[in-house]
Amino acid sequence: MSDMEFTSTAHYKALGERKLVGSRCKSCGKLFFPARPMCPECHGKNMEATELSGKGKLTAYSVIYIATTAMIQAGFDRKNPYCAAVVQLNEGPSICAQVIGADVAHPETIKIGSPVIATFLDRGEGETKKTFLGFQI
Ligand SMILES: [Zn+2]
Repeated sequence: MSDMEFTSTAHYKALGERKLVGSRCKSCGKLFFPARPMCPECHGKNMEATELSGKGKLTAYSVIYIATTAMIQAGFDRKNPYCAAVVQLNEGPSICAQVIGADVAHPETIKIGSPVIATFLDRGEGETKKTFLGFQI
């Protein structure tokens, strides 16, 4: 991939383009998602952009009834809870994200280890429109 800045802005721009872009340290090979401009393992700054498959598995989850302000604005609350999870990507990094398609009324049916795939959640309109990463179970 071409050189890119590893910033929050670049992260959300890539999500808007339906891409998961991490960074790999050219010195030690460690992969990070979201992308980091500096390697916390070896403190190297020689990072290259690496596109990820978006495939992973559920490693932890919780059904959230008391939502954050951003999630309340997205339509979630006590009557409409959502599933937040930790997903380990097939390439290694883990990330927290919303899981779509989970039966939040029956959380016991949500199984650790289930395969998930990235999905892109467009929220807001106009200048406040932003794409967030989610996973489909
Ligand atoms: Zn490194």
